[in-house]
Parts: sequence; C-alpha cells; structure tokens
Amino acid sequence: MKQNWRVWLCCAIFAFSASGVANSRDLNSRDINSHDINSLDILEESALSVSPQEGIALLDQFGLGNNGLKPEQQAKVWFLYGQLYEKARELDKAIASYDKGVALVKYLPITDVLIDSHLEKSFALYLQSNDPAVYCADRKQALIYARQHNNSELLAKTLTQNAFCYSEPETVYQGIALLDEAMLIIDKSENLNVHRKAMIYNATGSLYRSVGLHQRGYENFEKAYQTWQSINDIEDMFNMQHNMVSQAIKLADWDKARKSIEAQFALANMVDETKDLLFFAHLNAGRIALRTQNYQQAIFHLENAVSLEHTTKEKYFISSNYLYLALAYFKSGDAKKAAEAARTFRLNKRFAANMKAMFLKADAIIALDENKPVIAASKLFEVIDIERKVNQSVIDNKVVSNSLEHNSKIADFENELLANKLAINELNWASVKDKERINELKMSLFIVILVVLASIVLFLLFSRKSLKVRAQTDFLTGLANRGHTFQIGQKIVEKAWKKHQPVAVIIFDIDNFKSINDQYGHHIGDLAIDAAAKRAKSWLKKHDLVGRIGGEEFLIILENTNKEEAFNIADRLRNGIASQSFQFDDETVEFTVSLGVAVLSDSHTALTTLVKQADDALYQAKFSGRNKVYLAECA
Ligand code: GH3
Ligand code: MG
Ligand code: MG
Repeated sequence: MKQNWRVWLCCAIFAFSASGVANSRDLNSRDINSHDINSLDILEESALSVSPQEGIALLDQFGLGNNGLKPEQQAKVWFLYGQLYEKARELDKAIASYDKGVALVKYLPITDVLIDSHLEKSFALYLQSNDPAVYCADRKQALIYARQHNNSELLAKTLTQNAFCYSEPETVYQGIALLDEAMLIIDKSENLNVHRKAMIYNATGSLYRSVGLHQRGYENFEKAYQTWQSINDIEDMFNMQHNMVSQAIKLADWDKARKSIEAQFALANMVDETKDLLFFAHLNAGRIALRTQNYQQAIFHLENAVSLEHTTKEKYFISSNYLYLALAYFKSGDAKKAAEAARTFRLNKRFAANMKAMFLKADAIIALDENKPVIAASKLFEVIDIERKVNQSVIDNKVVSNSLEHNSKIADFENELLANKLAINELNWASVKDKERINELKMSLFIVILVVLASIVLFLLFSRKSLKVRAQTDFLTGLANRGHTFQIGQKIVEKAWKKHQPVAVIIFDIDNFKSINDQYGHHIGDLAIDAAAKRAKSWLKKHDLVGRIGGEEFLIILENTNKEEAFNIADRLRNGIASQSFQFDDETVEFTVSLGVAVLSDSHTALTTLVKQADDALYQAKFSGRNKVYLAECA
C-alpha cells in the first residue's frame, strides 16, 4: 500500500496534495539564473527526488535572495521548501514557508502558486491540528482565488479539498455540492483527468462515510474503484476495495464484503510481494470472518497478516490486527493467546486516541487473564456505553440519511410532477390540435356529405325528372306517349270546359302500314312512324298537343279550335303527308294517313268520349277508302 495509506483512510487528502506538486510545474525557467542549477523545473525535480533534508540543502544552496527571480518564481521556491519540510514532518517550518510564498504573490494577479500554497499550508495545518476550524480557512481562501483564476483543473482540486471542510451531518450536503461541481468541471474538461475523477468519487465516498451514510459511501468508493480500473491502477483499485469492504462491514452486507475480499486477493497477487496488499487482504478477510463468527478462519487470516506485517508501514493497521486476533482467539476459547495478542495491541501507545472502544476490549481481555473480572466487566460496560452512543449517532445519521433520501425523493417527485405537467400540457396541446384537426375533418366531411347529398338530390331530381319524362315520352318519336297524351289532353279539355271554349280532337292512322313493314322492313316502318309524327308537328302550332297512342296511330288535341278549323287543319295534315314522299336511307316511301275529327263545344264531354268519336270518324275515313278526313257525327 502507498505511504499515504492512512491518510487515504482518514480523508484522502494526501493524494490531492501530492498531485498538487505535479500540477504546479508551470513556471518559466528561461528567466532563471542560478549558480549550478539553471532552471526551477530542474531544481524542483532534483529537490523532490532526494531525501527532504537533502532537498532543503539543495534549495539553500540555490539561494533565493540574489539571483534575480521574479516574485512568482520566488514563491515557487518557497512552495518547494514547504513541500520538503512537510515531508520531513517539520510542519511549523512548512507552514512558514508557504506563508512566505503567499506574502510574495498575494497582491499580484492570481497565480497557481498562490492557490497551491494555500492548499498545501492547509494540509500541513491539517496534519498538525486535525481541526477543520484551523485548516479550513486556507482552503476557503484558495477556493476564492481559484474561482477567479483560469485553471479549471486547479479549481477542481481546490473544490475537492474544500469538501472535507463539510463532513458534519448538518453540512455534508455542502461538501457533496462542491464535489459535484468539481466532477462537472472534470467531465467538461478536454483532457479527462481519470485520477482526479476517481479522487472526487473517493472524496464523496469519504464524506458519506463520515456521516454514517455507508450505502452511499460504498457506491462512491465503487465508482472510484471502477474509474481506477479503467486505467488499471492496481494499488488505487486495492485502496478502494479496502474502503468498500469497510462500508460493506458497516452495512453487514457479507456478500459484498466477500466479493471485495476476493478482489483484494486477486489484486494483491498482481503486484510485487514486497507490497503490503496481501497483508491488508488477510486483515480484511480476518475482520469479516470475525464478524460472521467464523473464528478459525479469522485466526487463519489474521495470523497470516501478522506474518506479513513487515511489508507495511501502517502502524494503525498492524496494531488493530492484533486486537482482531485477540478477539478471534478469545471467542474461539483461547483466552491465553487472546491476552497475549491484546497486550501486543496495547504496546502501540500512539494508537488513535479516539478508538477508545478498541482499548477497552483489549483491556477487558487482559483483565480477565489477570483474574480481575470486575475490572473486565466494567471495561465491557464502558464499551456498551460507547456502542450505545455510536448507535445513537447511527440513528441520527439514519435520520439525516432518511431526510436526504426524503429530499431527493421529493426532488425526484417534483421532477416527475414537472415532467407529468409538461406531458399533460403536451397532451392538452395535442388534444387542442386534434380537436382542431377533428373540426377541420368534420367540416371537410360535412362539406363532402353536403356535396354528395346535393349531388344525390340533384341526381335523384334529375333522374326522377328524366324518369318521369321517359315515362311520359314515346321512345320512337319523342312525342307524348299514350298515357301522357290522355293525361294532358284531359286537362286541356277541362280547361276548355271552364273557359267554354271548343276543343278539337284529331286521330290519324297510317294507311296500310302493314304493307310498309312488309315491303321495306320494320326499320323503315319505324322511320315512317317517326317521319309522320314530325311532319304532323310541323303542320301544327307549338302548343298543340300531339301524342302517339298506338303503333302508327296519333292523337292531336287543339285548344280553342272549332269544327271547321279542326277539319281544315286535319286535311292540311293529310295532304301534307300524302303529297310528299319520304326518303329513308335509299328508299323513297310514299304513304297516306286517314283522320277522324271530333270537337267539344259547350258540353262537358270527357276526352275519352271525344277520342271514341274521333276514332269512329277515322274508321269511317278508312272504310271510305283511306287518305280522308271524317268529322265525327256528333261534332
Ligand atoms: P289500315 O290502313 O287499315 O290501318 O291498315 P294497316 O296495315 O295499317 O293495319 P293496322 O293498323 O291494323 O296494322 C298496323 C300494323 O302496324 C300492325 C303492326 O305490325 C305495325 N306496327 C305497329 N307498331 C309498329 C311499330 O312501332 N313499328 C313498325 N315497323 N310497325 C308497327
Ligand atoms: Mg292502326
Ligand atoms: Mg294503319
């Protein structure tokens, strides 16, 4: 595991701090004159590649005062001093160095080195005090500068470090917001910094963990793990698996925990044996076995970890491994070995003071071994009190968690509501559109129906009329047919009754028509019928009624026409037909007609009677040799 491992576990700050050094190599070395080191870059590289003491000596040798460095370059050298003193754990000197650098550039336009100096000073203060009230002031100042400075990578780093100033349940969401902002910057930046992204996830996981939101802690460490996995950074992947296993234990999610252990052993086997990954894999496997009451397995792993403790510098974990081992021995019934391991644990006098419950457990095991059951019991009662407080804070954190969940659910709900409203608006809009469309369609349909109906009505009217006309018309001659002739004729007669006017009725029939048919054929016969009708018409006035009432038999009704007039008209008609031959196709045909005339004068005689009288007269005309006009006897 990396040297900065413990800090990783506390709050992962050192990793940011270390990367800050690399990010600050942006000074212009061309302007620098020096004795034996002629560029700041080379100076930096040289000073950081040796031990802190040697590095400091190198800087002293370089000399700050008399080589014409610009203030920014001088601040950079002070920054290097700060780094080296920090490495040497001479924190007061480190802080003083950063202060000197800041003093040189704080009234100049904002520079990277000004921001980095504040951040590193803050880190030194953190190591010194572990008190946010002490170390956060410089981070906040750095953030004010970074927000006005055009270096998004440095802003992301500053935001991330500031997030750790908000690790209390009441403020944690401010920290998360800063990390979200940092993530946004990284995601938007052109050259994706995978490490920075993973660090932000890790920091987010740490913040959640610090307020007991272990599920969220786990999820973010897992994201950090996956991000490092994308660049196959084995050690950082392992570190995240270590964080994940701790969260899985807190969640009592043994499936997740065991998977993580498998991953840890796999990763440990991928690196050099001298690394401490295998130590941590066994330590974590032992912890899980202990928590799941698998004491033999716990002893196996924790003893393995003891045999590998020389591979790590992490004193905290070397010590805690002994306490876990003591508990595993004790629970498996080996009180002697348990006491021995507990004593080894208690040897580390610098073990984290806030891990009181761990001390008490060890002390209880030791007290029992020393036959001091009362002391042992009182230690355990104390443990119970501490656990109760922890439980209370877990409950409080659960409340925080629930309220966060609640808030996010409300936010989700509101979003959903908004989305629904939008959808409803869209639906409304669509329905308005649909209604408009439906109205348009209705209108079109209405017009179409109207047109169709009108057409149908017109068609019906027309066809009715045409049917009626057809029903009343003789197809061959175009004259009124028999029925229609009698119908209209009757009306004429009745009108005449009213007006006391005479009405003449003439019937004429083609003579010997059978012989025309016989001689020329029916077609010519038809033409002859038609020609007779037309010629009759031509001898009459327009409003005189002519109808075909039989094969070659016609009825003429003449209004307001007396006997003489009617006779004259009939005779003109007879003569008109007889005197002029007809030309049908190539045939010249001659024929005559016979006519009978009856006239109504001043009596209410029905048409049928008049027709009968005219018909009788016609019969007489035939009988007397044809081509004649006869007046009815009563006329
Ligand atoms: P008459 O002088 O006594 O009237 O002698 P006719 O030959 O005309 O005798 P009648 O009136 O009895 O015969 C009419 C014939 O006309 C009978 C029928 O075959 C024929 N006829 C009736 N309707 C039509 C028709 O529409 N077309 C043709 N080509 N012949 C018709
Ligand atoms: Mg006839
Ligand atoms: Mg005839």
